[in-house]
Amino acid sequence: MSKGKILSGMRPTGALHLGNYFGALENWVKLQNEYECFFFIADWHALTTGYEDTSNIKENIDELVISYLSAGLDPEKCNMFLQSSIKEHAELHLLFSMSTPLSWLFRCPTYKDQLAQMKDKNITTYGFLGYPNLQAADILVYKANFVPVGEDQVPHLELTREVARRFNYLYGETFPEPQPILTKAKVLPGTDGRKMSKSYGNTISLADSPDTVRKKVSSMITDPARIRKDDQGHPDVCGVYAFHKVFNEAELPEIETQCKGGKIGCVQCKRNLADKMVNYLEPIYEKRQEILKKPSIIREVIEKGNEAAKKVASGTMEDVRKAMKIDW
Ligand code: SF4
Repeated sequence: MSKGKILSGMRPTGALHLGNYFGALENWVKLQNEYECFFFIADWHALTTGYEDTSNIKENIDELVISYLSAGLDPEKCNMFLQSSIKEHAELHLLFSMSTPLSWLFRCPTYKDQLAQMKDKNITTYGFLGYPNLQAADILVYKANFVPVGEDQVPHLELTREVARRFNYLYGETFPEPQPILTKAKVLPGTDGRKMSKSYGNTISLADSPDTVRKKVSSMITDPARIRKDDQGHPDVCGVYAFHKVFNEAELPEIETQCKGGKIGCVQCKRNLADKMVNYLEPIYEKRQEILKKPSIIREVIEKGNEAAKKVASGTMEDVRKAMKIDW
């Protein structure tokens, strides 16, 4: 029995890295067994910050579908679809834009943050300011009950709930107020110890072969104070240890004791980690190779998901037009 409807999506920006995987996708793979899930490719959202160069968008969409499938999303258990194929998102976004006060959008915490962070891009646009409203449309057009989010996205979901409340107040009860399912993200640093991010070139990607994973692990930054094997280490400042926490929980206490006591060398510690990571990631990599041999599956999966999404979204828009008395 499904516990309710879930909606979530990611922007197509190329192959996912482990930060993306452990931040959301790993959890989606579990949720698809318990809820009716709609997972989408947010290609319109990619335009809010990347409208100037759209040359890679098609291949990035394919790449994201490959990541979804190879990580374990199953088209028999969940609906994977493309945002721009379901025009109802745009219609609902437009209608929400009519009644959403500008102050709600200006006070979104990520708005100012991103303006400050992306100084190299001109994102002082109408689309960028309004993207939380597009998110509200993405969620509410499916009348989703739940949205899996990290702590940092809770304010966005609150805005969606406010948009739903305002609509219901103005035009009559139409939308449920979606609740967050808080994802306790496992945080992994990049291979250089900074935040894992494509722009730093420090990621480990779901598309990396076992050999590449081993090479990247061997180049990871460890405790900088540790020079010789018998120096006492500080696992809490070591990037390799942060990865052991995710991939090798069983051996953590032993690694901590050995590191602190200067009983294990970093090379050996990394080799152990690389074995555990390859063990975990190899099936994902192999699934990816299978899909690449038969790429027609990408389109098949999305067309199937689009069909299911379209059915729900067009039903909601009928209700919306009726509630607003614009169903002439
Ligand atoms: S032994 Fe392992 S945990 Fe300790 S500093 Fe070296 S790599 Fe890090």
